[in-house]
Amino acid sequence: MEETFDLVILGSGSTAFAAALAAQELNRTVVMTEERPIGGTCVNRGCLPSKNLIAAAKLIHDARHPRYPGLTPCTIGLDFAALIAQKDDLVHAYWKKKYESLVGGGIRVERGHVEFVDSQTVEVGGKRLKGNHVLIATGSRPVVPDIEGLDGVAYLTSDLLTVDESMELRELPASLLIIGGGYIALELGQMFSRFGTDVTMLERGRQLLEHGYEPEVGRSISEVFAQEGIQVVANATARTVRQDGGEIVTTAVVAGRERQYRTERVLVATGRRPNTDHIAIDRAGVHVNERGEVVVDPYLRTNVPHLYAAGDVIGRQHNSQMATPLGSRQGGIAVRNALSAGPTKAVDHRVIPRVIFTDPEVAVVGMTEAEAIAAGHRCWCNTLPMSLVPRAGAIRDTGGIIKMTADADSNEVLGVSMVGHNAGEVIHEAAMALKHRATIQDFIDLLHVFPTMAEALKIVALSRFKDPSTLSCCAE
Ligand SMILES: Cc1cc2nc3c(=O)[nH]c(=O)nc-3n(C[C@H](O)[C@H](O)[C@H](O)COP(=O)(O)OP(=O)(O)OC[C@H]3O[C@@H](n4cnc5c(N)ncnc54)[C@H](O)[C@@H]3O)c2cc1C
Repeated sequence: MEETFDLVILGSGSTAFAAALAAQELNRTVVMTEERPIGGTCVNRGCLPSKNLIAAAKLIHDARHPRYPGLTPCTIGLDFAALIAQKDDLVHAYWKKKYESLVGGGIRVERGHVEFVDSQTVEVGGKRLKGNHVLIATGSRPVVPDIEGLDGVAYLTSDLLTVDESMELRELPASLLIIGGGYIALELGQMFSRFGTDVTMLERGRQLLEHGYEPEVGRSISEVFAQEGIQVVANATARTVRQDGGEIVTTAVVAGRERQYRTERVLVATGRRPNTDHIAIDRAGVHVNERGEVVVDPYLRTNVPHLYAAGDVIGRQHNSQMATPLGSRQGGIAVRNALSAGPTKAVDHRVIPRVIFTDPEVAVVGMTEAEAIAAGHRCWCNTLPMSLVPRAGAIRDTGGIIKMTADADSNEVLGVSMVGHNAGEVIHEAAMALKHRATIQDFIDLLHVFPTMAEALKIVALSRFKDPSTLSCCAE
């Protein structure tokens, strides 16, 4: 039997939910399809569980390393299984509040593996669903690199955070080798280290965060990791992996030399790839690029007229990022473009704040200095240590840096990178400023609350005109 809907969505992640809600608002019939827990990566095995456990790891770390003379270090006991159980409870509760209620409220989800039959029809759980419009929102999954022997060991991926699935990690490993040095590797690496795991990271580049970040950012976070005893091995490429009793032996080429690492577990964190290779996309005639991303135009239309794609599955096209707010925004845009009579809307990815939830946090928005120069700007930029920010000094948390990049002629701020306490919150001021093309002077003119970490923005802006290390508090 075949049922027809205004919109059929492949997937039920945050992109799909935003799209389904938009369709509902337009009084259209909609169905989502899902083979894993409803809600997708973010709620089940990404943003929510990782941020929950990272904060717990910080409590342990801060107790062990109080920054204040007069506070005695102490060890908080860790019951890892109980910690994982509370994470699962939290995900279930969130799931009930944010997803189940919506599903109960009229948005249908068909369970099972979904594949195209033709460009308007999909098959899922033995049913055929026909869509006047179809949205591909199948997200992404961890890339599994081609490393000899990897198939033969029980390696971990970021799916270790998952709930209600067999890949969930329930026992804390004594030692962990992480292959990869991107944001997931950094967040989970520091988290495990703070839980007490001996962590080694193999980074292919010359330093952490070599691409897409200011070099000062990678250096700053590397210093933090070194201080915390996380071994980051740069210029390292994993070649072979094998099980040897209770240990996994990984052989890597490090700066031209072969080295061996023996660890209890191995975590593969070498990026994510779009889920387009198992949905029989060729039957729909939809173009996919060499990275496996569904090719879309700025209106999120594929090459097939009634077929759209959004979220992780479009990868970095049109300067997008694989992140939840991007997918949610795109899901809404795609559906309104498909189903409403209004003018079509293009995605706007000019200003995307990004955060890595390490401690201190890494937060960036806009262009790096190198990107600004490549785009033809004559650049002014400056990097200051967090120790110049009164708030950082007051709370004895002076690790990190802030860097501002601006056009030297117009003084328009083009980019901000910050490593520091609460950087993930502070970056929103910079993002709003970039959105409205603010200048260095605008950052200086805005009265900033004293003492806050957001003052870092004002101080680095001031450094365009004077040496902030010679100023008294709040002086301009
Ligand atoms: C460890 C980790 C931490 C993260 N932290 C953050 C963060 O802090 N902030 C942030 O913004 N982003 C974060 N992300 C990224 C974020 O989770 C994703 O960008 C977001 O979830 C993508 O949403 P989506 O709906 O496009 O895809 P998904 O959420 O992946 O949803 C796609 C769904 O489609 C389903 N599906 C795929 N193929 C099929 C099929 N053939 N049949 C049936 N169902 C199918 C999948 O099972 C999945 O549920 C994190 C990701 C990870 C892995």
